[in-house]
Amino acid sequence: MIIQFEKNITSTQRERVLEILSKNAFKTREAVTQLSNYLVAIGKSDFDIRIIGNMEGVNDVHKVNDDYKLVSSKWKVKPTQIEIDADVTIGSNGFTVMAGPCSIENENQIEKMVEFLKTNNINIMRGGVFKPRSSPYSFRGVGIDGLKIFYKICKANGIKIITEVMELEQIDDMYDYIDIFQVGARNSQNFNLLDALGKVDKPVMIKRGLSGTIDELLYSAEYVFSGGNEKILLCERGIRTYEKAYRNTFDINAIPILKEKSHLPVIIDPSHGTGQRSLIEPITLAGIMAGADGAIIEIHEQPEKAMSDGQQSLNFNETQSLLKKIRETSNFKNQFLS
Ligand code: PEP
Ligand code: MN
Repeated sequence: MIIQFEKNITSTQRERVLEILSKNAFKTREAVTQLSNYLVAIGKSDFDIRIIGNMEGVNDVHKVNDDYKLVSSKWKVKPTQIEIDADVTIGSNGFTVMAGPCSIENENQIEKMVEFLKTNNINIMRGGVFKPRSSPYSFRGVGIDGLKIFYKICKANGIKIITEVMELEQIDDMYDYIDIFQVGARNSQNFNLLDALGKVDKPVMIKRGLSGTIDELLYSAEYVFSGGNEKILLCERGIRTYEKAYRNTFDINAIPILKEKSHLPVIIDPSHGTGQRSLIEPITLAGIMAGADGAIIEIHEQPEKAMSDGQQSLNFNETQSLLKKIRETSNFKNQFLS
């Protein structure tokens, strides 16, 4: 059960609610977010929620039988939209494309990319500055100084930034220079990091773990929400399977099931989801038809020279051709399937 307290609930009113719940053997946890004040109560499923609903200081009460609560679709009438800023919103209003290189490399690369994005009406740029690499000898990113340059160029051009945060200490350092924190697949269950991101008031995109289940992804989102931050994007980025024909197996089922189970927007990452350039287009278009709210796509001016993930990056011509097909597919979907 999710109880939404009134903003001005008194401590006596709160105590009364907690007392009834405790008498009925509920375990409770309060979650104060930037938008609302919730009490998550876990216990009997046959409890009459009207008892709580009629109490003073209670704004609303919702029955949610899923094990995750705040991210569940069961208590929200409409899917959630995440406002990146006044002009950019993700979820239930079309398909948002975020694009950019796997790694930020240098100033010239950022400038060319920003120019390309602007010309093609993309207003969120991706680009890692802290790179999780399987080998310690691979390029590991330009770090915070590179992020500052990335920010300066994007800010001057009205482009928003999504980039990966790998550890707790980086959150404060990055905060002023980013618009969306990305939690990578390898940190999908870094619960300390998720707790800390619950305390920030910027959106967080959580990627599914390399072998993560749907429920594990939703629990990770529940950490951020219950920690205080409701601005969450879920990301399907492919999982490890026995299949060796491509880097990861993109789980198309994840899209409709996440939309069914949760009110949060679902973003697809066809780049890491396949690991292969030729598969980006068909998987992105399939993702649109399956109900995704957006995609994060790796692109590079010269993929063959990219410092990471060139094999799964599209060049500018390929990106433009994909963008055209994304528009056509979105229109087709809106006309015939909605
Ligand atoms: C990335 O987006 O740069 C990345 C490393 O992705 P993932 O965490 O999905 O592997
Ligand atoms: Mn990458």
